[in-house]
Order: sequence, then structure tokens, then C-alpha cells
Amino acid sequence: MPKPLTTMLGIGFVTLLLFGVENATSLAMPTINFSADQRAAGTFPESWIHGSKSAMDNTDPAVQVHAYNDHTWILRENKAINYEGAFMYLLFGNNKVMLIDQGSTSSPVLFPLRKVVDDIIAAWETKHKQDNIQLIVANSHLHGDHYAAWNQFVGRPNTLMVGLTHEEVMDFWGFSNYPAQRLTFDLGGRKLIVTGTPGHQSSEIAFYDTWTDLLYTGDMFYRGRLYLEDWAAWKASIKRLDDMATDYPVSHLINNHIEMTNKPGIDYPIGTTWQPEEPPMQMTVAMLKTAVEATTKVTGPGIYSFDTFLIYNEIPWAYTTDP
Ligand SMILES: [Zn+2]
Repeated sequence: MPKPLTTMLGIGFVTLLLFGVENATSLAMPTINFSADQRAAGTFPESWIHGSKSAMDNTDPAVQVHAYNDHTWILRENKAINYEGAFMYLLFGNNKVMLIDQGSTSSPVLFPLRKVVDDIIAAWETKHKQDNIQLIVANSHLHGDHYAAWNQFVGRPNTLMVGLTHEEVMDFWGFSNYPAQRLTFDLGGRKLIVTGTPGHQSSEIAFYDTWTDLLYTGDMFYRGRLYLEDWAAWKASIKRLDDMATDYPVSHLINNHIEMTNKPGIDYPIGTTWQPEEPPMQMTVAMLKTAVEATTKVTGPGIYSFDTFLIYNEIPWAYTTDP
């Protein structure tokens, strides 16, 4: 029996409507698939800019820009501008990008971070056919060498400034039980698993990126002098990071500074603006295990030396092992 004309017209109309809507959506906003089964590797540079013997004669850019992969950027501040040589991260999701940390220099003349970030975003938008994506300005923790250029982003259109108080940080990530809680943060389809990691600073966060398998450990754990203001909190935070590395496959640990030389247990002098033969910034899960073990060897305030890091436990930051 032939179908009544009204039904056929109805189906045709619905099909046209669905097809039309789907087409319009995909034209307006191509969607990048960041699901874990599409996870992507990345590369680190052979070496980072690392200052120079004479800071005045340094000819490197103020900010080194490195594309780890298509949607992940690592930036480094020139050590000749500020000895901290801070690393910053730019992670793209659909219609969103997050800048983690803003380096150690406020001046846009000396350190044009805003321009560097705007240029990367503009190029990414062109390449991936998205526009007017939102920039989230976030921080690993609330220390001045990590937010000095925060001011450069104030008033930027379509920008969410997370803020520089403990309350604003907790509110943005959605913590109701900091630091123990583990949260999922959706960066435009790119899922970050976030947890609290106080010990170095009382508002610090760390996260695991499910798309790259990178575990970001901030100033909690890196190749350098781990300044701990609260030993008990740091010990618990290291355990939380280790739990994360047990529960998820980790490609590399990434962070914000390099202060160790390539010789076991030996750091560069505090404040140096030249670090020839720097070891890599990225670290391994095995190194994190060493930190967990180290928690049984620290017996009180003082400086404790390990191959890839030093623990500066509950002492003034200017104390040094420098000869
Ligand atoms: Zn810090």
C-alpha cells in the first residue's frame, strides 16, 4: 500500500531539517576530537633558551614558543630577562584556550607575553577554522614569578581571568573539598583531571591532561630546589600525584622551572641568568617515585639532596648550598 503523501512529506521535511541543521553546525564550528582514544603525543625542543654569560648581550627572544603538538604550546621566559626562566603553557580545546601562568616579568616591553599569546591564538584560529575563542588566564599557584604578566591580559576581550586569590582559584575549578578532591575540568572537549597540591604554596593545583597524557606538577615537583612551606601538605600532595600516575598512563611530567645541572644532586647557583647544558624540563614517573621515597628520609627542616631535585624543607628560601 502506498504511504499517504502527508507522511512522506513529513519524513522528507524532517530529513531536510536534520541534514540542514547538522551541516550548518559543522560549517560554523568544526569540532576537534580530544577524546582519550584520539590522544596525541608531542615533542620537546632539543634544548631551551637558557640565558647567556652576559645577560645584556643576550640575543634570544623574550619568550621561546614551542609547539608540543597541534593544540599544546610550551612557552619559556628568557633567563636573561628574569633568572626564574619560567615555563608557561597554552592548551587549546574547542572554542577555549587556557594559559597556565604568566611568567616573572610584568613589563610588556621587556616581556611581551600578551602579544605572543594573541599571535598563537590567531594562527590557531585560522588553521582550525574557529574564531573568537575564549582565553582562560589561570595559574598553577599564587607566587609572583608565575603571574607577573597577569596584568597584560586585564581588559582583553573574551577573556576569563581566574583571579589571584585562594577563593577565586577554588571557585573556578569547582573545589568543595580542597586539596583531596579530584575534579574533571572540560576545556572544550579536552578533559583535565585536576587535584589540589599544596605544600609549596597553599593554593596550588596540578592536573593530568587526558588527551596528551601529560601530568602537570607546577612548582610542587620539578628539577630544582623544591621549597616547601608545609611539609605535611607536600608529603600528602606528592602521594596524590603518585596516585594520579598510578590511575592514568603518564607520558611526561611537566612543570615550570629548571634549576638542576646535568650532574646528579647539583643545582645552578640561585639567581643565575645562564644555565649551559641544562637537563630537560620534562620528568619521568620514576623520578616521582623517588620523591615519594624521599618523604621517608626527610626528618625535619633543612636541605636534602637527591639526584634530580633538592628538598628545601621549611627553611627561608634564600638558604643555599652554593659554595
Ligand atoms: Zn612557586
